[in-house]
Amino acid sequence: TAATTGVAALKAAAGGNPLLANLPNKLWIGGQWVDALSGRTFPVLDPRSGEEVFRVAEADKEDVELAVAAARKAFDEGEWPRMSGKQRGKVLTRIADLIEKYADELAAIESLDNGKPLVMSKIADIPLSADHFRYYAGWADKLHGKTIPCDNVFGKFFAYTLHEPIGVVGQIIPWNFPLLMLAWKVAPALATGNCIVLKPAEQTPLNALRFAQIAEEAGVPAGTINVVPGYGPTAGAAICKHPQVDKLAFTGSTEVGRIVMREAAERIVPVTLELGGKSPLIVDKNVDVDKAVEDCHFALFFNHGQCCAAGSRTYVHESIYDEFCEKAAARAAKRVVGDPFQEGTEQGPQIDEDQLRKILAYIDIGQREGATMLCGGKQKGTAGYFVEPTVFRDVTDTMKIAQEEIFGPVQCILKYSSTEEVIARANACEYGLASGIISNDVNFINSVSRGLKAGTVWVNCYNVYESAVPFGGYKTSGIGRDKGEYALENYTVTKAVYQSLESNQCWI
Ligand code: NAD
Repeated sequence: TAATTGVAALKAAAGGNPLLANLPNKLWIGGQWVDALSGRTFPVLDPRSGEEVFRVAEADKEDVELAVAAARKAFDEGEWPRMSGKQRGKVLTRIADLIEKYADELAAIESLDNGKPLVMSKIADIPLSADHFRYYAGWADKLHGKTIPCDNVFGKFFAYTLHEPIGVVGQIIPWNFPLLMLAWKVAPALATGNCIVLKPAEQTPLNALRFAQIAEEAGVPAGTINVVPGYGPTAGAAICKHPQVDKLAFTGSTEVGRIVMREAAERIVPVTLELGGKSPLIVDKNVDVDKAVEDCHFALFFNHGQCCAAGSRTYVHESIYDEFCEKAAARAAKRVVGDPFQEGTEQGPQIDEDQLRKILAYIDIGQREGATMLCGGKQKGTAGYFVEPTVFRDVTDTMKIAQEEIFGPVQCILKYSSTEEVIARANACEYGLASGIISNDVNFINSVSRGLKAGTVWVNCYNVYESAVPFGGYKTSGIGRDKGEYALENYTVTKAVYQSLESNQCWI
């Protein structure tokens, strides 16, 4: 079929890596591709094999200095913040169009870089990224302030508010959805007229570099977006500490989020943090067990368990617990793990050696803590970073595997008896990013969705993402919201202007 030919062609392309032949391997600063001042480069590994497939210039503090200076100049003197919203919207629309035009190539790069199945890159990561730019293109000319009448002891005035761009925005993103996380950050910042210094994760810099080309092709002026691949403690820290960076936006681990927030506090700049999660997914009694098993499987195993919002604590009512556990293990055992470019693959490799070791260590901890492992448990093969889909039952709340983010294909199934009990137990966790409910009972759904301390509640679905709907965490899962109208606030600052009304007769 045509589809097979397409997949086969992409697989061949990625195998020989001609995809990478024209991909820039430098830093994008001030509208130029430049080497790192140190001359250093760092390797990009293929997670299928652990082999180096590419090398990219490694930004450090002095390169970040140049990138911030370029963004500063673009903001203080350049056209982007001075363009009308309508014009900016047109450029964002062109970015969306170009992401769609290059969708096959971007999907293949994403799968090569990150290891996710090509089909997922094609149906999720790339179209959702395009959609995000199109969505914020629509907001660019709708950023109105308010007019506010004032009648007070000082006289009569009217005041109005302006929603101005903040300035130079430092954005640091993770490796699990490389292009989509870029889109979540870059699109609202651009729509509101800011200039950007972006650091992709060191594991997955490729599509951020490709994106810089797309932004240029779409007409984003030089210096408006600067891309500085590099490591966290060097390039990332330099962005956070730079006195000319007016706002920090970070997605990644809670541990690094704390560092970013400390730096923001030091300089009193606004910060938004999208951090880790340990999201409860609660299965009610009287549900279709087969469907619930499939939904919970998708909630956890999607993207190899490498989702901040993964449904990683599956709470199942005691009346169906045994049946559910048996079927969940059977489903996980059938999961197709293999080459992301192979048709039919559901799960590719984990991102890197560190994550592989971390996940295997948690599987070991789970067994030692007394949970019952029903399937999986080992590395799959010896090449690359593949992990067998693993299911634990008899998991209890205080076990480490029920409290800490594993970020891998490990499902933990807990048993509960009553609604009040499961709400309290689901909330007894430091995180509060997402959650889910599977139920046919509207009263149960209402009680639980209002009772859960989580930024998202998915009811009879999971991992649904729409550009217009805000996403973010309670508790240590973060501060602020990405996506939707809510994210515009992250990138604007409000100015109030009072104007005297000369005539007392007029309406205010
Ligand atoms: P990470 O925190 O290790 O790295 C994220 C980014 O921060 C990378 O670009 C990294 O280079 C950079 N970084 C590392 N140390 C830094 C420092 N000292 N200063 C500045 N930057 C630094 O996270 P990760 O392992 O790449 O990603 C996985 C984590 O991201 C998980 O905890 C996951 O839950 C979270 N995540 C959250 C969301 C969300 O929207 N809430 C989305 C995706 C991922």
